[in-house]
Amino acid sequence: MDHGKLAEILFPEVETAPEYYENLYPKRELPQGAMITRLGPSPTGFIHLGNLYGAFIDERLARLSGGIFYLRIEDTDEKRFVEGAVETIIDSLDFFGIDFDEGAGIQSEYGNYGPYFQSRRKDLYSCFAKILVKKGCAYPCFMTEGEIAETRKQQEEKKETPGIYGKYAVCRDLSISEIKKNISAGKSYVLRLRSDGAETFGQEKKSNIEIHDAIRGTLTMPSNYQDIVILKTNGMPTYHFAHVCDDHFMRTTHVVRGEEWLSSLPIHIELFEKLNFRPPVYCHTAQLMKLDENGNKRKLSKRKDPELSLDFYKEKGYHPESVREYLLTLLNSNYEEWRTQNPGIPCEEFPFSIEKMSTSGALFDLDKLNDVSKECLACISASSLRKFLEKWASQYRPDAYDALKENNAYLESIIDIGRNDPKPRKDFICASQMFEYIKYFFDGFFQIEDPLPEEVNKRDAVSILNAYLSTYDPGDDQSTWFSKIRDIASDLSYAARPKDYKKDPDAYKGHVGHVSTVIRIAITGRSQSPDIWTIQNIMGETKVRSRIIDYLS
Ligand code: GLU
Repeated sequence: MDHGKLAEILFPEVETAPEYYENLYPKRELPQGAMITRLGPSPTGFIHLGNLYGAFIDERLARLSGGIFYLRIEDTDEKRFVEGAVETIIDSLDFFGIDFDEGAGIQSEYGNYGPYFQSRRKDLYSCFAKILVKKGCAYPCFMTEGEIAETRKQQEEKKETPGIYGKYAVCRDLSISEIKKNISAGKSYVLRLRSDGAETFGQEKKSNIEIHDAIRGTLTMPSNYQDIVILKTNGMPTYHFAHVCDDHFMRTTHVVRGEEWLSSLPIHIELFEKLNFRPPVYCHTAQLMKLDENGNKRKLSKRKDPELSLDFYKEKGYHPESVREYLLTLLNSNYEEWRTQNPGIPCEEFPFSIEKMSTSGALFDLDKLNDVSKECLACISASSLRKFLEKWASQYRPDAYDALKENNAYLESIIDIGRNDPKPRKDFICASQMFEYIKYFFDGFFQIEDPLPEEVNKRDAVSILNAYLSTYDPGDDQSTWFSKIRDIASDLSYAARPKDYKKDPDAYKGHVGHVSTVIRIAITGRSQSPDIWTIQNIMGETKVRSRIIDYLS
């Protein structure tokens, strides 16, 4: 067979020599050890925690080594393309502090290694597909879907591995005249790899390949023997072929991707060899898992686990710092120790390393994220939390936005309640929960949520609040304020000290805590809140009095 002739028949329009692309995309001039990483999402419109997890690894590797991190949109499957998906990817990752140095952008692309949309790189794929044909490493396959399905059926019956290989690769040895005849008859075809592994398949001589994975160490895997599709009937590449061409020409040094790609690795290695390209360093990450209700580990699922979607974190208003911090605890087992030894330092300074990554499934745990977030928010200033909360509200609680925006100093003092104490308050988790905690400060969101304590009947509550109104003086310091409440308690037969009530419950209606709860409910609507004296100082006399009067009326 004259492979050169076949290449001309299949790709008459391709005249570019491979050197053209080697010159167009030269090796990047970067310091020794700089890593070039990429994120290659498919624009399906759904961006999930796994994407962020991978992107974060890519970003850390590139940043810490002085390298480049770029975004490549893997859009060769038109059926899966969703309008606006690229914007969603960029915006969502940007929200979590992941920025790209080059690649696909919302308006246009930027960088010298583009186009960064695979759908715009067809010429390059055709050029290298032609090279493979010329070398006798690829051939057109005219099998119809029906024939492929029939082959699969036979293979299933014989309990053989499904696929097109060995004797099942019926188009492998078509002559040039047969190929020409098929093409003139208008038969559509794909381009398949002529795998070397196929020749030995079935003779128990399947060879193995050894590949080093930066996370998993040296892997020994059977070589590929499948004549996989390189170009689809429309001339677009499959993932395998595009990955090999693009990561070579975009000069990726480290490919970070999910372990679901491990089984395709032998295919990729064979393609790299046949094209004479050097493979990148592979880093196959463990799947994100969670513990289900029964304590079993399972993969996070799009259908069952809303927390898989990045929108979940945006809607709830998790701070990007918390999520980044949490991802580091998932990624590197020594992160928490580092954090304890380096409090207050940005997590970006942690010497993240691939070697410290776990190969068993990374266990995602929302409670743990919440704990990390509490610590993280405790270190963020009130003014920056205020801005964060306002930004979140502008998108997810527009009804609350104006109220939050009205008075910066007011909102910041609310946020700061108890945060500068010797034992600082650490109960903020995310913006939606923060808003629920503090919303009673805003008249439009204030409502009486809790009932009076059992120890206080309606009549006594009225007496407590009337007495409080007549003694309340916003100038009182905390101890004067509290001694006034003790006096109100004693006057109305409540113990001035809880321990007196405990000792002799029959002698009192309740104790000072029950009395102050009534005041708390009138002012905040809740039986639990931070210290009332502090709340009152922030709210100011007018609001305090009017809430009590409203409660009484
Ligand atoms: N387009 C692939 C995906 O979305 C990317 C895999 C890779 O990073 O190589 O899964």
